[in-house]
Amino acid sequence: MTAPAQPVDAFDLVIFGGTGDLAVRKLLPALFHRYVDGQIPDGTRIIGVAREALDDEGYRQQITAGLNGAAAQNPEKFKAFLKLVTYRPLDARKDEGWDEFAKLIGQQPDHVRVFYLSTSPDLFVDICRRLGHYGLNKGESRVVMEKPIGRDLASANRINDDVGSVFNESQTFRIDHYLGKETVQNLLALRFGNALFEPLWNAEHIDHVQITVAETLGVGRRGSYYDNAGALRDMVQNHMLQLLCMVAMEPPSSLSPDAVRDEKLKVLHSLKPINDENAAQLTVRGQYRAGATEGQSVKGYIDELNEDSKNKIEKSQTETFVALKAEIGNWRWAGVPFYLRTGKRLAERVSEIVVAFKPVPHSIFHPSAGPLAQNRLVLRLQPDEGVKLWLTIKHPGPGGLRLRHVPLDMSFAEAFGVQQSDAYERLILDVVRGNPTLFMRRDEVEAAWRWAGPILAAWEDSGESPRPYTAGTWGPSASVALIERDGRTWNEDNEDNNE
Ligand code: NAP
Repeated sequence: MTAPAQPVDAFDLVIFGGTGDLAVRKLLPALFHRYVDGQIPDGTRIIGVAREALDDEGYRQQITAGLNGAAAQNPEKFKAFLKLVTYRPLDARKDEGWDEFAKLIGQQPDHVRVFYLSTSPDLFVDICRRLGHYGLNKGESRVVMEKPIGRDLASANRINDDVGSVFNESQTFRIDHYLGKETVQNLLALRFGNALFEPLWNAEHIDHVQITVAETLGVGRRGSYYDNAGALRDMVQNHMLQLLCMVAMEPPSSLSPDAVRDEKLKVLHSLKPINDENAAQLTVRGQYRAGATEGQSVKGYIDELNEDSKNKIEKSQTETFVALKAEIGNWRWAGVPFYLRTGKRLAERVSEIVVAFKPVPHSIFHPSAGPLAQNRLVLRLQPDEGVKLWLTIKHPGPGGLRLRHVPLDMSFAEAFGVQQSDAYERLILDVVRGNPTLFMRRDEVEAAWRWAGPILAAWEDSGESPRPYTAGTWGPSASVALIERDGRTWNEDNEDNNE
C-alpha cells in the first residue's frame, strides 16, 4: 500500500535565473510534472526573473522549447500549466523594476513565497539584499540556494552570513539534488525500514564502501565555472559527502529535519583529515586528454575549455577526476575505507553506492564449486535507479554444486511501472511545504568545507599537476592502484566480475 501524493496550497515561486540552463532544463519540467500529477494547484504563480527583455509570452515560448516534448505529450495540461508562468525582467544588481516586482508579489500575501536563486552565486547576496530592502521576506518566505556555496570555507561563510542577514536558517534551503534522488530516499527505507541490514551495518560485517559518480560528458559550456572549481569542489564536497553521510550516519530518532541533519553532521565531523601528510597516499586527481566516449572522438580538457573562450590557455591545474580513500573515525566505521571516485569523460555514465560485505569466515565448499564472492549491496542512482543485492546461490540443475554470484535486482522503473521522477520535483515541493530534511544545514556545509579545504591545500602545496587520463577510460591508472593496494577492486556490475 502506498500513501497518496500530497498536494500543497497555491504558492508563489520566483526563479531568479529563470532563463538559465538549470531553470529551463530541470526546474520548469519538474514543476510541470508535479502539475500533471495534480500536486500544484491553479492559483500558483511561477515567475521567471532574469535581465533579458522578454514578456510573458516570449518567456513561455522559450521554456516550451526547453521542455523537450513534455508539452507535446500532454498539450492540454501544458496550456493550463503555462497560465501559471509569467516573467519579469530584473537585474539583481540594479533597483530598476524592483518596486513593481514587490507590488506583484504583494498581491498574494497569503501565499508561501519561494525565492529560488538559480543564478551564479555571486548574485545571491545582491538578490537577497534587495528582497530584504523591498520588504519581500514576509509571511512564509523561503530562499533556495543552488550549489556551489562558495569555493572554500571563507567564501561559503560570506555567502551564508549575507543571505542569513535577510533570511534566517529555517527559511534557507541549500539544495543538493542528489539527496532528492529516489535511491537515496530508498537508502533510508532500506536501512531503517528493514530489520535485515542494520545489524550488519558496521565495521564487523562491512568490508568497504564505494561511491562512484561517473560522467561521460566533458565540461561543455560550463568551462569557465568548472575551471575555477574542479571535481573536488563540484562533486565531492557536496554530493558525494552527502551520500557518504547517508550511508554512514547513525539511525536518527525520527525523520525530522534536525534529527537527520544532526546525524549527518556527526559523520562529517568524524571524517579523518586528509592533508599535506597523507594526501599523496589517499587521493588521486586527474585531467582528461583527447579520447572517445560513447563511440565519439572528444577533445581533451584544455582544448574543450579553449573552444568557447577568448583567452586561450595552455595549462590548467584543475582536476576533472578525483579518487580518494576516506575513513570515518568512530566505533561503527573504524577501519572501513570509503572509496570515492568521480570524473568527467569517463567510460560510462553511472552513479552508485556499493556496500561490500565481508566474506564468509570459512568456506565449506569444494574448490571445484567456484570461488565465494562478497555480498554487495549496490544502490544505483543513475542511469537506471534501483537496488541490487549480490548473493551467492547454487547454479540450478544437476552437474554438481556450482556456486554463482547473482543479483537480486530491483530496478525501480520496472518494479513499480512508473517513470522515475526527477529529484527536483520532490525537492521543490519540500521547499513549499517547509520541510528541510533533504537540504543542507549551514553547519553541514561548513564541516564539509573544513574537511575538503586541506585536501585542496595539499594538492596546491605539492606543486604536482593532475595525472592525465584518456577520455573514455576510468581515469588515471593510479585510481585503480589506490584501491588495489588494499586488495580490493572498483565495482563492475556484471556477474563475471563479481565472481
Ligand atoms: P546559466 O545558464 O548561466 O543561467 C544564469 C541565469 O542568471 C540566466 O537566466 C541569466 O539571465 C541570469 N542572470 C545573470 N545575471 C543576472 C543578473 N544580474 N540579474 C538577474 N539575472 C541574472 O546558469 P545555470 O547553469 O542555469 O546555473 C544556475 C545556478 O545553478 C548556478 O549557481 C549553477 O552553479 C547551479 N547549478 C546548475 C546546474 C546545471 O545543470 N545547469 C546544476 C547544478 C547547479 P540574463 O543573462 O538574461 O540575466
